[in-house]
Amino acid sequence: MPSAVAGPEIERLIQLLARLPGLGPRSARRAALHLIKKRELLMAPLTSALETAMEKIEVCKTCGNIDTQNPCTVCTDARRDASIIVVVADVADLWALERAHAVNGRYHVLGGTLSPLDGVGPQDLSIDALVSRGHDTQVKEVILALNATVDGQTTAHYITELLRDADVRVTKLAHGVPVGGELDYLDEGTLSAAIKQRTLF
Ligand code: ZN
Repeated sequence: MPSAVAGPEIERLIQLLARLPGLGPRSARRAALHLIKKRELLMAPLTSALETAMEKIEVCKTCGNIDTQNPCTVCTDARRDASIIVVVADVADLWALERAHAVNGRYHVLGGTLSPLDGVGPQDLSIDALVSRGHDTQVKEVILALNATVDGQTTAHYITELLRDADVRVTKLAHGVPVGGELDYLDEGTLSAAIKQRTLF
């Protein structure tokens, strides 16, 4: 164990920052020092933003998104197409799709994917609520925007079965060549999926 270079308060700050995704101990130390140097400019507003967020953040009762209003901003936005529900595993996926302006529908956050190995079953995810939303007559399409992993695809199949008697089109994301991707660098699975899902030019 390296000896501490600062008092317990600063060491605690560093330890907490090191728990953030993408920050190891070294970058946490750098971030802490940056915050300390910019106390007025950065640390004070950050503290207040964290406090406000802590007080106001809620999980949307309709879709499972995280927001400071409930139902969330996405669910209450009248300009969105209420006939489309995009199903994602996690709020991070919802935010990623929103950043890409990929689709103008509503969402449903499952809270993970089915994973027998990790003991995650249907009762652990927000699947019942999704199935009930999928049976709403105004919903015409359910887009399964789930990871291209075994767990993601197992979950997609499971949901598709439960929506079989609903009057909705169940679609999934295409697998293929990433934008800007070079064929030479792709793995065989991606290449073969891209060939199978080729589209008319
Ligand atoms: Zn919502």
